[in-house]
Amino acid sequence: AKDKGRGTYRFYAAQMNAQSAERLILESGLRRALVREELLLHYQPKLDLKTQRIVGVEALMRWRHPTLGMISPAQFIPIAEETGLIEAMGQWALRQACSDAVAWRRQGLPALQMSVNLSPRQLGSRTLISEIATILDESGLEPELLELEITEGAVMKNAEQAVTVLETIRGMGIGLAIDDFGTGYSSLSYLRRFPLSTVKIDRSFIHDLSEDTDAQALTDSIITLAHGLRMQVVAEGVETMTQLDHLRSRGCDVIQGYLLSRPLPAEELCRFVGGYLHH
Ligand code: C2E
Ligand code: CA
Ligand code: CA
Ligand code: CA
Repeated sequence: AKDKGRGTYRFYAAQMNAQSAERLILESGLRRALVREELLLHYQPKLDLKTQRIVGVEALMRWRHPTLGMISPAQFIPIAEETGLIEAMGQWALRQACSDAVAWRRQGLPALQMSVNLSPRQLGSRTLISEIATILDESGLEPELLELEITEGAVMKNAEQAVTVLETIRGMGIGLAIDDFGTGYSSLSYLRRFPLSTVKIDRSFIHDLSEDTDAQALTDSIITLAHGLRMQVVAEGVETMTQLDHLRSRGCDVIQGYLLSRPLPAEELCRFVGGYLHH
């Protein structure tokens, strides 16, 4: 039994080493990813349920590692956040997204709202506002066509400071969406305190819509609540027509999900929207 115990310990130790080794590899790789141009953005279209038009896209970061291949944001975003690398990466993403949005317009696409994810760390950065202003100025994108997606966690960290920053952002004409709504330690008072223009219902509720009456009740309530506060509602992770029909019947404004399209590289997104216009 003694031997067995020691073996188990060794096994765990080896596993832990493998985990921290992987983490180290990712961390050091991430430090070089920006300069080596291994980061890219994919864009997922959003459909307005009333007009049946594509009204915007969400920019989602991708990392093509030279030897490990595509690494999921679920793996690298937390590392970027912990190490602080997210600040430079997020700034790059914002600049790239704005410049792609302007390029699509030049190629004849209708105006699309560009949504970019903002991490808690970025929201706490003192230079955020001036960086956003510079990027809008340099790209020429109208502020009304930009939307920033933040999570509840990000605003809860330092609520007082967050309110000021978010009000400045809204004052510039930029949209503000609360992401993954319903999953965090949601406090309803945040919906009133923060100058939000959009609520994004988390995809876990959408996923359970067909079988689960609790998920339906929550989804319906979020839609009613958001509309009562004059906010737009986006449902994310819509994969089936049943989900879409439910959301439409409840007055949800916009949907996003694999049913419409997966996130696409910039040129493919451009073609997708072009094709959608003429079908
Ligand atoms: P998120 O902001 O909630 O983004 C939506 C995620 O849902 C994306 O995962 C998207 O690909 C996925 N998705 C979209 N439609 C469907 C669907 O119908 N079904 C399912 N199962 N999934 C769907 P992705 O691209 O892997 O990104 C994961 C998370 O990583 C994002 O969640 C966001 O929190 C973070 N992230 C991605 N890009 C950035 C970025 O540029 N900056 C920051 N700070 N975070 C980012
Ligand atoms: Ca998001
Ligand atoms: Ca989300
Ligand atoms: Ca999420």
